[in-house]
This record gives sequence, structure tokens and C-alpha cells, in this order.
Amino acid sequence: MSTDIASIALPGGERIAKLGQGTWEMGERASRRADEIAALREGVALGMTLIDTAEMYGDGATEELVGEALQGLRDEVFLVSKVYPHNATHNASRRGVERACEASLARLGTDRIDLYLLHWRGGVPLEETVEGFEALVRAGKIRHWGVSNFDVDDMEELVALPGGAACAANQILYNVARRGPEFDLLPWSLARGMPVMAYSPVDHARLPKRSPLDDIAAGHGVSVWQVALAWVLRASGVCAIPKAARIEHVRENRAALDLKLGDADLAALDAYFKPPRSKRALEML
Ligand code: NAP
Repeated sequence: MSTDIASIALPGGERIAKLGQGTWEMGERASRRADEIAALREGVALGMTLIDTAEMYGDGATEELVGEALQGLRDEVFLVSKVYPHNATHNASRRGVERACEASLARLGTDRIDLYLLHWRGGVPLEETVEGFEALVRAGKIRHWGVSNFDVDDMEELVALPGGAACAANQILYNVARRGPEFDLLPWSLARGMPVMAYSPVDHARLPKRSPLDDIAAGHGVSVWQVALAWVLRASGVCAIPKAARIEHVRENRAALDLKLGDADLAALDAYFKPPRSKRALEML
């Protein structure tokens, strides 16, 4: 299988892999650690070099696992982490962002994060977080910053702030069963050349037990998970970060990038997982 993988452009032109790897719930059980590390390393070898993590995951244990998994591979990877906007610790404040980033860098065993995201909107004014992010860029601790779980109104507010237009990406819940962003947020992002990073692209393994995914999968000789992932990956301006702790799932996910769904497949999915006809509030996991 080719490791030469499709890519999408950040607003500044730098390209990142269209298919990456999530890490939520990794690093939490010693018995699974070796498999999780092997899965992440296999994904990188297959070209899935976009790695997403967060300080919140496993209270830092996931970042430590990612750091271990990426030993010797750091320069091949585009590493994403997120600051946790928890009110008690003020991590999303001007100084809190810098403190949180230093702690993430130490756990990840690296000197820079390629894309640092605000995990969701908390109580801290956005301009403070943006100031903190911009200071981190100037210090070379992060290369780009962005947001997560921001709907169109949040994005409009963000890009109107001083420095806010430097936002490089928005990571949101988007999959065949959660199509709300197609109504407004995806077109908004596409028009600005800002990538959408689709999290939970196979709906956190909660896809319906019976749906047109079954027949489409049988027709292509693949799994329903691969069809669901290929469906997300068909969208322009969208990259996806499925989490797979099993190496066979990583390989299947990489193969899903090469799966082309036909018009009949897409129509069957539209009939069951209806596209939005009006605004739906952005969902979060
Ligand atoms: P997901 O990637 O949609 O689903 C993960 C689940 O699907 C795991 O149980 C995994 O199993 C299974 N799976 C993956 N590929 C499979 C395949 N080919 N066949 C069968 N099962 C497969 O859900 P997610 O972890 O919620 O989302 C992905 C990543 O997005 C997260 O890990 C995290 O990095 C990020 N995320 C961000 C936010 C946010 O607020 N910004 C929220 C949620 C998630 P195994 O692990 O056993 O292989």
C-alpha cells in the first residue's frame, strides 16, 4: 500500500495528511500500551502522519504515550494537541495557555506542537486565548493554532478579533450520522480555505447496527467502518482523525482513503442519513 497519502492545505499553504490518527482513550491501560504504540507507528508508516491528542486525554497519560510512540518519528509527523479550557485551572487564559503548552511539550517529549487547539469554548475571553497562542507561535513552541467545537457564530467572532484570522483549523464532530455542519460550517470553512478536522469519523464506534452502510460495504468487499470513513474523506477541505488502537483497524482505515463511493452509494446514504435542510446546532462528544 502506498505511503504517499492525499493531503489538504492549511490556510498558509502547508499541507497535512488528509487521513490521520486520533488518540482519545489511548494510554489509559497498561495492558493495551504496546498495541496502541504499534498501531500509531504503523499508521505513520502508512502515511497517516497527522496525529491528534490533547492534554485532557488520560489526564496527560495519552500525550505521554504519543511521545513514546513517536520516538524517532517526530519529524515525519504533524502533531496536534489541545488546551483544556477547564475553569478551575485557567489553562485557556493568556498565561495559562503558555503553562499548559509547556506541560504538553514535556509529556510529548518534543520542542514544538505543530497545531495547538482550544479544545472548546470555555469561560475565558477568546482574545486572551488568542494572545496566548500568538505568544507561543513567536516563541517557537507551536507552529500553528486553531480551535475545536466552534460553530459558525463562534468562528465569526474569532476571526474578527485581533490576530483571530490566523486560526489554522477547526476540529469538529462530523460523520455520516452527524451531518449538521454540511448546512453552514463546512461551506463557511471551505470558503475561507480553513480545513475542518473531522473527529469521531466512525461516530466513536456507534454507527447504527443496520443501515445502507451494510450493503455498500458488501458491494465493495470492505467493512462498514471503511465505508463510513471513506464517506467523510470524500469531502473537500476535510481531513479525518479516526482512532484505532488495533493495528488491523489502522490498516483498514488507510485502505478506506482509496475507496471511492459511487453515486448510487452516496444516494443510498443520503436517503438514510439525511443531509441537513436547516441549521442544526454543532454537536460535541
Ligand atoms: P472514532 O475514531 O470515530 O472511533 C473510534 C472507535 O472506532 C474505536 O473503538 C476503534 O476501535 C474503532 N475503529 C476505528 N477504526 C475501525 C475500523 N477500521 N474497524 C472497526 N472499528 C474501528 O472516535 P473518536 O476516538 O471519538 O474520534 C477520533 C479522534 O478524534 C479521537 O481519538 C480524538 O483524538 C479526537 N476527538 C476530538 C474531540 C474534540 O472535542 N476535539 C472529541 C472526540 C474525539 P479500536 O480502538 O479498538 O481499534
